[in-house]
Amino acid sequence: MPKFDLFEIREAGTVSIVRFMQQIDDFSHRTSDLHEQLSRFVGDNECLKLVIDLRDTTYLPSSVLGVLIQLHNAGCEVHLANASEDVAEVMQVTQLNRMIHVNETEVGPWEEVSGSELLRVPLEGYALTCPECLHETQVDKHLLGKRATCSQCSGELSVTTEAIREASHVFATCPACMTQLRVRRDELNVGMSCPQCDALIEIRVIV
Ligand SMILES: [Zn+2]
Ligand SMILES: [Zn+2]
Repeated sequence: MPKFDLFEIREAGTVSIVRFMQQIDDFSHRTSDLHEQLSRFVGDNECLKLVIDLRDTTYLPSSVLGVLIQLHNAGCEVHLANASEDVAEVMQVTQLNRMIHVNETEVGPWEEVSGSELLRVPLEGYALTCPECLHETQVDKHLLGKRATCSQCSGELSVTTEAIREASHVFATCPACMTQLRVRRDELNVGMSCPQCDALIEIRVIV
């Protein structure tokens, strides 16, 4: 694994989530390092979608914004999550939200809640509909940007960001009973009982 000293990364299914290691306004003198490190991460991992978690950040310096726009121009879909109202307003006024998606993606807390009975379960895949036979096929979360094969007709499905966004159901395995669960997308990031074993689980994009 390459080392990055300016941010932490968590792989979360089809996206990579970035959290900066220091106050973002301290980056002005390290903008080229930030660009180099993020570009290297994106290139090495064929990352198509990057989510910048702006929790604890109220202000997005133009130097950092410039780096994000360069990543967008290089073909990476860039999202801001947990952006403050001020940041969201700046993005709208400058119309930069046409390039960089603001608060469309939800990112939960990084730290585990200690003493909780809740089992955090990673999202495994999405239910996509085959355009040929309309059969629902489970597509692994790592196939974004690639092609999947329909389990019924063996036709090809393009696993695009749009297709994943439109998927109404997701898949995960209950860690208590090992049953594979198919749940509605709006049940993501919400505590629920496993329908098989009643264990309290929460299927998360980030674990
Ligand atoms: Zn099919
Ligand atoms: Zn279970």
